[in-house]
Amino acid sequence: MAEQVNHVDNEIKFVLHWIIYCPVMGKFRYHIYGNLMILNTNKRTPVKHGIVTALRRVISLALVFIFICFGFLTACTTNTTVQYADNPIAGRETLTQISTIDAILNGVYDGVVTYGVLKGYGDFGIGTFKALDGEMLAFDSVFYQIKADGIAYVVADEMETPFASMTFFDADYSGNLPQGLDFTQLQEYLDSILPSENEFYAIKIEGTFSYMKTRSVPAQEKPYPPLVEVTKNQPVFEFENVAGTLVGFRSPPYVAGVNVPGYHLHFLTADKKAGGHVLDFIIEQADVAIDYTADFMMILPGEGSDFYRIDLTPNKHEELEQAEK
Ligand SMILES: [Zn+2]
Repeated sequence: MAEQVNHVDNEIKFVLHWIIYCPVMGKFRYHIYGNLMILNTNKRTPVKHGIVTALRRVISLALVFIFICFGFLTACTTNTTVQYADNPIAGRETLTQISTIDAILNGVYDGVVTYGVLKGYGDFGIGTFKALDGEMLAFDSVFYQIKADGIAYVVADEMETPFASMTFFDADYSGNLPQGLDFTQLQEYLDSILPSENEFYAIKIEGTFSYMKTRSVPAQEKPYPPLVEVTKNQPVFEFENVAGTLVGFRSPPYVAGVNVPGYHLHFLTADKKAGGHVLDFIIEQADVAIDYTADFMMILPGEGSDFYRIDLTPNKHEELEQAEK
């Protein structure tokens, strides 16, 4: 039988104490218990060699543990934001939508993309701003913000949107609208000339209006209230004999929860100084241009957004009627 060369001479018990502070989950205290065998080979300075080995093992263990802790801390503190590239796929016939209307009804008003990025998805559209700071409309590649003071401002590329619908506007239909139509009658009229209620349509109406009623919304602070709470105190603006442009969409009924089914229009005066989300009007004289839009693309809020936590299962139809009409 082979003689056992090594035998255990000493045994050191050790305890490693670690205290980790994670900003999200608080303080953790870890202990590692272990035994280090110090081997004696009955040769020269075996014990000394054993202690060096033991120290090396402690240092190695400590280093491994530090790496694990560092990874854990990084995971706790990193706030992931999604970086959207310039438009990679949306074509001129694509309606690109940021987030969902029900997310807005739930008070998810954090910015999803910048307007600089949004411009890559269209030259025409409507939406809102980070913190719900007003109503947006865009046409001919110029983006406007109608704030709660009713005044229109040109939008800077660094500003962000939590909700928007955009397309590149190419008219498939152009026509003159009958005089005297109000908002409800216009919807019935357009429904009668559109080829299907199951497509998306971008709608641009330019003309004069004997009456126009719009609203905007003031910027909100966190914790953000739901949209219906905000619109209870919305500033409303009324115009008489005003010239301007209506910009918006008719979306099919099956988009309920995703976008506004039916008509959703925003208004800008011809002098580009005022406007808002359209509540009603009476047409004096106006032309309509309609872009039939068959492709649809969505960009959802990324990881870390309130969008990840809200319950989007309830039907919000009544809240939408209250907030948008
Ligand atoms: Zn609107």
